Amino acid sequence: MIRIEGVTKRYPNGHRGLTDVSLTVHRGEFVFLVGPSGAGKSTLIRLLYGEERPTSGEVTIDHFRLTTMRMRQLPKLRRQLGIVFQDVKLLPTRNVFQNVAFAMEVVGASRKEIQKRVPQVLELVGLSRRRDHLPSQLSGGEQQRVGIARALVNQPTYVLADEPTGNLDPDTASDIMRLFLEINRRGATVVMATHARELVNQLQKRVIAIEAGRIVRDEAKGVYGYES
Ligand code: ADP
Ligand code: ADP
Repeated sequence: MIRIEGVTKRYPNGHRGLTDVSLTVHRGEFVFLVGPSGAGKSTLIRLLYGEERPTSGEVTIDHFRLTTMRMRQLPKLRRQLGIVFQDVKLLPTRNVFQNVAFAMEVVGASRKEIQKRVPQVLELVGLSRRRDHLPSQLSGGEQQRVGIARALVNQPTYVLADEPTGNLDPDTASDIMRLFLEINRRGATVVMATHARELVNQLQKRVIAIEAGRIVRDEAKGVYGYES
């Protein structure tokens, strides 16, 4: 379970990222974070994976209390999290298989585990036939699939995504969104910041709207609710 209680994030330059935000996300939920640019969506996601710490308030993920956690605990938390960004940042000289394998190598997985698990996750994201390709040989949608495979390969409990379809055309975005639904169906809790208005409106998932650092709406089967 993710619990955010009375969280305010003020940046060193005085910008307010979030003001007095509280929310709970239970295991197995699929949550969209929506709101205008600068609302605080990325700040919220960065607080969840420990990239930023709150100025005040509590952030808890399962038994990890992020506010008081020591830096050396962070890798343990991150192992429970799969993180997907708009800008995928693959290793340019490594092929698809190696890019995904790398995420397992850094957590100390054995060669045998890697050879078993990477093909499974490439199958899930539909990239089995691209395993020997370099990132530069892939379309934008395929690159994002590699990013998703990399996020999933260590079987995280929570998948956090910050505008994962932001660089993609509508059809590709729709395919990628379907992939997140499948990941959620298989048991991962998904929290996604997005501007994909039509997809949010179609999918009838929980929608949390943030404006100027505050939650202004939280609906079980919500809509996007903004014009752009
Ligand atoms: P969103 O993801 O909804 O576009 P952000 O979380 O990126 O919103 O930004 C929320 C507010 O925090 C904005 O006013 C933004 O300028 C500010 N902000 C975000 N990141 C930083 C940072 N690293 N340093 C200073 N201010 C920041
Ligand atoms: P190294 O840095 O030791 O060369 P790599 O990161 O290149 O390791 O590769 C990691 C693992 O992935 C190695 O076991 C390598 O043999 C394996 N590998 C790389 N590409 C493929 C592929 N297309 N199919 C199966 N295994 C692969």
